[in-house]
Amino acid sequence: MKTIDLNKLVRSTILKMKPYTSARDEYPTVVEGMIFLDANENPFEKGWNRYPDSKQFAVKQKIGSIKAIAENRITLGNGSDEILDLIFRVFCEPGKDNIISLPPTYGMYSVLADLNDIENREVLLNVDFQPDIPKILAQVDKHTKLLFLCSPNNPTGNLVSEETIVMLLNRFNGIVVVDEAYIDFTTQQSWAKRGIAFENLIVIQTLSKAYGMAGIRLGMAFASPEITALLHKIKPPYNISTLSQEKVLLMDPNIEKEVSLIQKDKETLIKVLLKVSFIEKIYPSDANFILIRVDDADKRYRQLLDNGIVVRNRNQYPLCDNCLRITIGTPDENKTLLEVISKIQKMEL
Ligand SMILES: *Cc1c(COP(=O)(O)O)cnc(C)c1O
Repeated sequence: MKTIDLNKLVRSTILKMKPYTSARDEYPTVVEGMIFLDANENPFEKGWNRYPDSKQFAVKQKIGSIKAIAENRITLGNGSDEILDLIFRVFCEPGKDNIISLPPTYGMYSVLADLNDIENREVLLNVDFQPDIPKILAQVDKHTKLLFLCSPNNPTGNLVSEETIVMLLNRFNGIVVVDEAYIDFTTQQSWAKRGIAFENLIVIQTLSKAYGMAGIRLGMAFASPEITALLHKIKPPYNISTLSQEKVLLMDPNIEKEVSLIQKDKETLIKVLLKVSFIEKIYPSDANFILIRVDDADKRYRQLLDNGIVVRNRNQYPLCDNCLRITIGTPDENKTLLEVISKIQKMEL
């Protein structure tokens, strides 16, 4: 069991501030026939003339049952990007505190650090794309509030080892944020369920990837009830729209079929790509994308684009020289990708 003193980690401004309250926070249940004259809404019913439920009660019930997590441990955001921003604002004092991130990784951690005027201490992953524990701990000082672990990591595609995560949760006395945007593509259990033993853990997930709902913008944080309450204290009250909440309530949570199709296509794609002359390496992937190293990333990126295929050029990222990140598409899209690659290869002969 890892315990923390939240009062020491949370910004004093946040501890002291009074959250926004709406009249509707004051009664828990809606009684048939109640008349709402409290929020200056247009009274004529059209399905979305009312403000959405700010606490997202029904959505949390559904997410809670899918993920087997108590509702008082769930925070919902307008994408996980909003939740990541809330985490910065709860814990990091602008101009004073710092965070640690582990490049090459998801770009939003450093963008949000800049946006919130927080120093980002970057500690490169090792050659196996695993965190370098001694180097990370050497960067920690009393102003280090957050450590971001992305597992499976974007853009490298690998999981962070369990021993490493446990070690960092135990040795780092700030908040460890484990970003599990791609967890549904692995057979590894989420840290969300194991997290009860670690008060300093926040697990981030999203409906944007395996659940196929990037357009509705719904991210999730799973954390202790105390951290969850702090995130709720500062979140914009109506951050999940009525339309998004409805889509979640209608969502089919059985994603296994699509996920296994994507996995199968990924394996097929890798087999064929291994034989392509200008592809030098394909990194193992626990996600719905692959990272490949080519002879000349800028050139191959351009050639794919000229043939109507957009991939992500990660050439500028550390440890990712000449690397492209390719998302697994539909079977037809993957087939076209292979045809285009074969065409590019033939042009060289
Ligand atoms: C795609 C992705 C997200 C998702 O962000 P949303 O705002 O929920 O769409 C979060 N973290 C990582 C590492 C990602 O790759």
